[in-house]
Amino acid sequence: MKKVITSYISLCVFFFCSLYAQEIPYHKKGIEYDFRTLVETSAHDFDVLHYRFDWRIDLDSQYIQGKVSVRARSLIPSLDRIRLHLAENMEVTGIAQNQIPLDFDHGDDFLDIYLVQPQSQNEEFEVEITYQGYPESGLNFSQHQNQPIVWSLDEPIDSREWFPCYDLPSDKATAEMRITVPNNLVAASNGSLINVIDNHDGTVTYVWEENYPIATYLISIAATDYQTFSDYYTSGSEVMEVIYFVYPEHIVQAQADFSITVPMIEFYSQSFGEYPFLKEKYGMAEIPRRIAMEHQTCTSYPSDAITGDQRNDWLIAHELAHQWWGDLVTLVDWPEIWLNEGFATYSDALWHEHLYGPEGLKSRMAEFKDFYLEDHQGPEHPIYDPPEGHLFCEEEYEKAAWVLHMLRFVVGENAFWKILKKYARDFAYSNVATDDFWNVCEQVYGEDLGWFFNQWIFEAGYPTYKFRWFSLDQTAVRVEIGQVQEDFPIFKMPIELQFNFPSGTAREIVWVDKKDNFFDFSFPERPITVVFDPDAWILCEMEEYPKKIKGRR
Ligand SMILES: [Zn+2]
Repeated sequence: MKKVITSYISLCVFFFCSLYAQEIPYHKKGIEYDFRTLVETSAHDFDVLHYRFDWRIDLDSQYIQGKVSVRARSLIPSLDRIRLHLAENMEVTGIAQNQIPLDFDHGDDFLDIYLVQPQSQNEEFEVEITYQGYPESGLNFSQHQNQPIVWSLDEPIDSREWFPCYDLPSDKATAEMRITVPNNLVAASNGSLINVIDNHDGTVTYVWEENYPIATYLISIAATDYQTFSDYYTSGSEVMEVIYFVYPEHIVQAQADFSITVPMIEFYSQSFGEYPFLKEKYGMAEIPRRIAMEHQTCTSYPSDAITGDQRNDWLIAHELAHQWWGDLVTLVDWPEIWLNEGFATYSDALWHEHLYGPEGLKSRMAEFKDFYLEDHQGPEHPIYDPPEGHLFCEEEYEKAAWVLHMLRFVVGENAFWKILKKYARDFAYSNVATDDFWNVCEQVYGEDLGWFFNQWIFEAGYPTYKFRWFSLDQTAVRVEIGQVQEDFPIFKMPIELQFNFPSGTAREIVWVDKKDNFFDFSFPERPITVVFDPDAWILCEMEEYPKKIKGRR
């Protein structure tokens, strides 16, 4: 197998330490956040239908003036107030409903808006918020080769830092982004480019429309002196533009690196179901720093990852896969982050399998395993609901990818691919929780999988096995498998064994679910060796038994 990945880090918010020195490992971002703040707004009694953003951005002073229209629907009989998120350092200069000024309270990063009159259930209404300020995070400003650049990066809860919105992923809405910047800049965003308006004042307004539902953390803008180039993805009679926004100084390297994107869209479309935003586009916009982020239809791609030698194909694959896992099918809340990151990480391995076959898959999974076991930071925690500060951890990326890999082994090849397609189809443009995925798995597999999800998603850790075998006589073989992990529960897993004989091989699957497990087999001849989990389907560590067993041969 051609080994293309020499060093690994999973991304999503992802950081590159250095792409030029392989001896320097990649690093992840330890994002400090408190998603409990989101829970405070859980009494969500309206449904946002559409956002219309109108932003004027001054890149010199790093100042934003914004006007945001929020069209929503009441979910209760008498809705007289809505609560949005907005950082308190943003100054709200006015809020109106049908041109009538509204009262509001703004503090603690919440914006409470008192409607003109109570809205009845299902009634639609629209409020318009005018605001301005210097964003402290979320919207970022810097330079490349003396050219100014502005770009957003909001996952998980930084959208509120620069625009008012209901900032939980569960309330997806359509959106229009009007971005006014100096007329020498190009502004990239989600969805389709509808218009470019010359304002005859030295500025230009880019109008983008996202007509597929989008979560607020996936709304993105990026503007600088971009050069663009395009490829095209064809599906039946549909031809979709795949457009890249890159710095002029990186155009040659980007054309080399990004040439793989359309074949990846083809592969994932065949594997998961059609590319979800076919009527719009797929795009990638270069941004500074070492972060990639799967903004819907417009991935932000780190400048340092553009090398011209395609060494970061895996990163293109990971972010592209998020268009299905995260953007089409969106986590309902942040404790479910593995449904984004585990799936995108495993999709990277699936791309390797597509290119290099079973050995490619095995090799990539081995890299994930090493990363998880050797570079793990801090104490183990369950995949579900990571503790504060651990949203983007090895558990959510590499271990969760391994959980999908093990699920594939448990349910079998046909069921696994059916599960992925059904899950994407059943929850398209909607939100998901772990239970939703679990239900789809059981529907397709036809049997209970509670034992599997409970131990791998809701409990921490992994098994450490001891394995040995010996011949009882000329034909009988005994296999002993022990579980010796002390800090984690006893796991239940099917494990494949390969018996190698002088004349060939045989494989058997045993269910290991106790601390000590014994299995007897009978074969026409005595095996030379027995191999534990020969295709490496199980996330585990191995310990050795003492070599010699006295009195037995
Ligand atoms: Zn990711």
